Amino acid sequence: MTPPNFAYIQPKSLADAVGQLRSPKARIHAGGTDLLGCLRDGVFGAEKLVSIGHLDHLRGIKRTPDGGVRIGALTTIAELAASGLIQQSYPALARGAAEVASPQLRNQGTLGGNLCQKPRCWYYRGEFVCLRKGGNKCYAYDGENEYHCILGGSVCFITHPSDTAPALVAYDAVIRVAGAKDFREVPAGKFHILPEENVEKETILTPDEIVTDIFLPAPRPEWRSSYRKVRARRSWDFALAGVALALKFLGDVVDEARVVLSGAAPIPWRSREVEEFITGKRLDGKTAARAAEAAVKEAHPLKNNAYKVPLFRGMIEEELLKMSKA
Ligand SMILES: Cc1cc2nc3c(=O)[nH]c(=O)nc-3n(C[C@H](O)[C@H](O)[C@H](O)COP(=O)(O)OP(=O)(O)OC[C@H]3O[C@@H](n4cnc5c(N)ncnc54)[C@H](O)[C@@H]3O)c2cc1C
Repeated sequence: MTPPNFAYIQPKSLADAVGQLRSPKARIHAGGTDLLGCLRDGVFGAEKLVSIGHLDHLRGIKRTPDGGVRIGALTTIAELAASGLIQQSYPALARGAAEVASPQLRNQGTLGGNLCQKPRCWYYRGEFVCLRKGGNKCYAYDGENEYHCILGGSVCFITHPSDTAPALVAYDAVIRVAGAKDFREVPAGKFHILPEENVEKETILTPDEIVTDIFLPAPRPEWRSSYRKVRARRSWDFALAGVALALKFLGDVVDEARVVLSGAAPIPWRSREVEEFITGKRLDGKTAARAAEAAVKEAHPLKNNAYKVPLFRGMIEEELLKMSKA
């Protein structure tokens, strides 16, 4: 394979960075932990890398005047996991960040990059020209599919790889994006897209848009939240199954719920079935078990990943029960 050959640009401003992205085959370079691997392995090519790493105003975690928090897209995963503010007010996000990869990758990888990273399907990452790479076939469908999705698959069966995105969806975070004309704000729950919408893209971003900030609403005292990740190995690994929970309790009754699965679908998957089932109920053992059942009712496992169905069921049941006692 010929080594990748590209120009490397370090724009001085955000506007300049957006402008640089207008040329064809330009890519954003943040921490590079995902991008450089993709280029090395020929997953896609680039003629120009636009480095945003020194746009310092895109770093940091700060309280906003409305009591929420603004996280700059260049904040590293390690900074997020170690932030007292995030640990205290948004524990599911701190946990999700702490579960990402290894210490080295958390030190280098950024939150913006974590949300925009490419999927980990070994066909997509390998030499196969699959649907997501402009081919005409999803090789995982009747191939080696033990790590693929059980929900939301349709034409391509990737799982969404980020451990921070499910918590952001559960907290109703908003993602701010800079584009050629202006900024736009997108709810975290609408940021990632399903393969049936566009099989070659993972997010709503256009090629010349940059994620600049992530906004979390003010912490809500009656809500409890958590993130749990199950993986094959205790060293770095992507989620086989995961769940971010944000539940509002009135006494011991669930008044409102966000239940977002990782490792299940091509996007962070909001399990409306579980949310609806537990709302208005006390979270006792029977409710938790039936809610967990509802989570996988619509699952369509492939040949090698049926194990994910009982895995999700057990994990969701355990997490709901833990939350009822928190
Ligand atoms: C071995 C390994 C294990 C991993 N395990 C996990 C894991 O368990 N859980 C998990 O969540 N992640 C995991 N990751 C992924 C890792 O967290 C991401 O690689 C990292 O967060 C990406 O951040 P980055 O700044 O390095 O992004 P980059 O590599 O610079 O960019 C990644 C992608 O996002 C785009 N991008 C970057 N920043 C922006 C922005 N601000 N706006 C728009 N687009 C942008 C780039 O163009 C590129 O396509 C793993 C990665 C590796 C290599």
